[in-house]
Amino acid sequence: MSIPFCKKCLLAEIDPEGVYRSVIELVDAMPEDKRCCSEEYGRRLGICRVCDQLSGGVCMQCGCYVELRAAKKSSVCPHPEHYWG
Ligand code: SF4
Repeated sequence: MSIPFCKKCLLAEIDPEGVYRSVIELVDAMPEDKRCCSEEYGRRLGICRVCDQLSGGVCMQCGCYVELRAAKKSSVCPHPEHYWG
């Protein structure tokens, strides 16, 4: 039986020991100068959490796991409104 999750959950809540762990390993493998600081990472994910394009940890605009996309400093929100600013 799968664990129920809400559409607005991030992977950290849906699958902390599975896909999320793999995402965090990829984030940790990013060179530090390519990674967002924790404040910016949290800010981006806070915007994703209230975005109608988030579905179970995935951005429906691009198909990325938002916790991975948000970690890269040069990433932009793929929505035409560029929600991350
Ligand atoms: S469109 Fe932007 S703000 Fe919305 S889930 Fe995707 S990356 Fe996050």
